[in-house]
Amino acid sequence: MTAGRNIPEEKPDAMLRLPRRIINQVLDQARAFPGQEVCGLISARDGAALRAVPVMNIAPHPEHRYAMDPAGQIAALKKMRETGEDLLAIYHSHPVSPAAPSSIDIAEAGYPDAIYLIISLNTKGVLEMRGFRIREGVVGEVALEIDE
Ligand SMILES: [Zn+2]
Repeated sequence: MTAGRNIPEEKPDAMLRLPRRIINQVLDQARAFPGQEVCGLISARDGAALRAVPVMNIAPHPEHRYAMDPAGQIAALKKMRETGEDLLAIYHSHPVSPAAPSSIDIAEAGYPDAIYLIISLNTKGVLEMRGFRIREGVVGEVALEIDE
């Protein structure tokens, strides 16, 4: 299921810069498991994206849902706190649907301060990644910029 075909952009300054190496890491992870959704967290230090931490998807039907392994998620967040990093973004892939939050993604989004990154493997030969804020059911797009 796909929601939000006409998603308004957040205020024009809503933008996320991501280093190329983090984007490549996340895309490689999605490509390595083309038949299921992959997921993970991206940390930041002083507002700048620092690293991506893959978390196991334990959803019963990982081909169209994701549920982060709670132990893996807690461990990743704990390590961020210990090293002075913040949670910047939560990413997952869509093997066949577009890079937009599904109605379930919107309903289950529990981190209003994080940016939700969605990777779509649907587009032939081209991987698509888009960013969103999801707050109390309201979705706004966050423009992504690649830091080379
Ligand atoms: Zn999704």
